[in-house]
Amino acid sequence: MENIKRYTVTAALPYANGPVHIGHLAGVYIPADIYTRYLRLRHRDVIFVCGSDEHGVPITLKAKQRGVSPQQVVDEYHELNKKAFADFGISFDIYSRTSNKIHHETASEFFKKLHSENKFIEKTTEQYFDVEANQFLADRYITGTCPHCANESAYGDQCEKCGSSLNATDLINPKSMVSGNKPILKETTHWFLPLDKYQDFLEKWILEEHKEWKPNVYGQCKSWLDSGLQPRAVSRDLDWGVPVPIDGADGKVLYVWFDAPIGYISASKELTADWEKYWKSNDTKLVHFIGKDNIVFHCIVFPSMLKAEGSYILPDNVPSNEFLNLEGDKISTSRNWAVWLHEYLHDFVEKEDVLRYVLCANAPETKDNDFTWSDFQTRNNSELVAIFGNFVNRTMVLSWKYYEGIVQPMENLDAAEQEIFIQISKLKESIENNIENYKFREALKNLMELARLGNKYLADTEPWKLIKTNPEKVKTILNISLQLSANLAVLAEPFLPNTSKKLLQMLALEKISWDNVGGEILRAGHQLNKSELLFSQIEDAEIEKQIQRLADIKKQNEMTQSTAKPLKENVSFDDFTKLDIRVGTILEAEKVAKTKKLLKLLIDTGIDKRTVVSGIAEYYEPENIIGQQVCLIANLAPREIKGIMSQGMILMAENANGELIFASPVKNVKEGSEVK
Ligand SMILES: [Zn+2]
Repeated sequence: MENIKRYTVTAALPYANGPVHIGHLAGVYIPADIYTRYLRLRHRDVIFVCGSDEHGVPITLKAKQRGVSPQQVVDEYHELNKKAFADFGISFDIYSRTSNKIHHETASEFFKKLHSENKFIEKTTEQYFDVEANQFLADRYITGTCPHCANESAYGDQCEKCGSSLNATDLINPKSMVSGNKPILKETTHWFLPLDKYQDFLEKWILEEHKEWKPNVYGQCKSWLDSGLQPRAVSRDLDWGVPVPIDGADGKVLYVWFDAPIGYISASKELTADWEKYWKSNDTKLVHFIGKDNIVFHCIVFPSMLKAEGSYILPDNVPSNEFLNLEGDKISTSRNWAVWLHEYLHDFVEKEDVLRYVLCANAPETKDNDFTWSDFQTRNNSELVAIFGNFVNRTMVLSWKYYEGIVQPMENLDAAEQEIFIQISKLKESIENNIENYKFREALKNLMELARLGNKYLADTEPWKLIKTNPEKVKTILNISLQLSANLAVLAEPFLPNTSKKLLQMLALEKISWDNVGGEILRAGHQLNKSELLFSQIEDAEIEKQIQRLADIKKQNEMTQSTAKPLKENVSFDDFTKLDIRVGTILEAEKVAKTKKLLKLLIDTGIDKRTVVSGIAEYYEPENIIGQQVCLIANLAPREIKGIMSQGMILMAENANGELIFASPVKNVKEGSEVK
């Protein structure tokens, strides 16, 4: 596409039933923001739109669980996520929401146009219906066993265990989430978009005309197309969403996948009265930044909708990243396995750019990648602090020390110094190419190469030594270092906006144009502002705290996820009464030599004082359990353990992670009391 006059950049609408985490940021919002900031620096006409996706069953279910209205759920997460994005400098021109009136109107008009032009087909099918609750059970309102992997808690639209997308009628032993009852099948009529009719158009448009799309995106599209497209329902029996805007459609709303992408258009309308040129003009480049779970909707479904409507442009590219994992495990909202943005900001004050940096440097551009706290610390301390920060800091400190912050003239550049300016231009060009081709990691590497170049220049020339023998030359060295810093400030803006701003402020520069990069930005005689540190070290203790937090979550998850062991065979009451269980108190405790697990206990049983050997040494220190009351099987036949005669067994509860906990009376009772 040539002669592009303007850009419409969209970022996937986050679902308003939970907070955003680092996976979202790395996959979608940071690349989209770098791209948009770059376009703005190039003085291109661009709108950057996003907003909350506020419809769909998961939101109504969450509202039901909490006993609040769906509107309350979406209000909460809309505000939380809007703030988190703003805090991380994600520079949307608008962050709208699909519960807005303007979106309901836009989506309704879109549907009505397609409906009046007979672009939908109507189908009557049997859907599950909860008789007691008197409602149809769409998607997640129904659970059952997955026919593919036997997961017993698969949803009506998807199995999260094996990733299959499902129809509710595929489920074995379906169960209503509303009443828990077995649902009945009942006829209902819905509108479908006949995607099969767009198969030829999509094959030509994607497989032939967009071979440049990222391999993961192109590959997923190809596999959908190869397996043949099917009509897809655009409506649902539900009371939360955009009502189907035609007569006789009571109790039906637009299916969330149909209304959500129209949200980009609604948000643009809300942003500017001149919105049509951003959506309907052939000299506009439309780019959708999305996560890989959204590829089919943005490459197959939404383009078919736009094509059916007829007046809109199609996306030029749909850059999608793979998934970011956290410490080796898949990020999961339900398991709380994530780094939440609002929590990060609480723990790492004024370190927004550090997270932006790490998530871009380690972005899952071509394959799933892993975020680890130790990598986060290393990238901060050894890259941002030791290279970028160190170079700028030395330059500023020396400029103040020798010249009171006044830029000195630059004279008689040697070949190596001339090469520095050539390198700035080359790296700038490389950053441009990489960003325009959605290779943000490479672009960030280019930026750091520039900082490395500066660091090396200072190390090679050693102005702090040269000041004694050749003070004239030091003026030139610091001038060049300051020019490098100023160029860095501009080139860093798309990636590290706060750092860029701070550095420009230190250099006493107004916002400068991208076009000035490469040359001499600071003139001799220019007065700098005082210097401050751009980055600071992250200490081990801060990282250990995060790792501990994750370890605690993992432990918690293991406990809640493990299922109880099956029941043993029944025993008679008579058998039970043969056991003599008594309450005793531990009088003495010591480790059994040469064992890891065993403690030798002296227990007052109220009848006698006896020795019991117990395998609890991994969980209790001997000195901490003196005085602890225990329940003891007192008439268990004595048995020799490691040369000690053990007279009885104390009762312990075993936690899901194997930890043993005393099964004791909840308040002290007299030794010898029977347990029955
Ligand atoms: Zn499954």
